[in-house]
Amino acid sequence: MPGYQYGAVSNTPAGLRRRITALESEVARKTRTIRELDSQIRELNNENARLRELNTGERPIEHGTSNGYSRHYDRGEKPCEECRVAYLARRRELQQQRKKAQK
Ligand SMILES: [Zn+2]
Repeated sequence: MPGYQYGAVSNTPAGLRRRITALESEVARKTRTIRELDSQIRELNNENARLRELNTGERPIEHGTSNGYSRHYDRGEKPCEECRVAYLARRRELQQQRKKAQK
């Protein structure tokens, strides 16, 4: 596999430790890259939404609400993280209310 250079390391404890360390730093590097890309995607999505709101006169989404979560779906978008968190919290709240009512 190109770029995969750990195969040559021996299977001694020291060799394995080196391999683990190398893999861990590779994971850390890739995790950073993923976070950066995620935040770029979020910015582009926000920008896209802003432009669409300007073009269509569409009402802006109130993010971080469970209403916002539904609005994302109405628009055919994947809900943003803030809306997803708010929706899950709201759903949990409703489930707990229902449980209490059953007692
Ligand atoms: Zn949102």
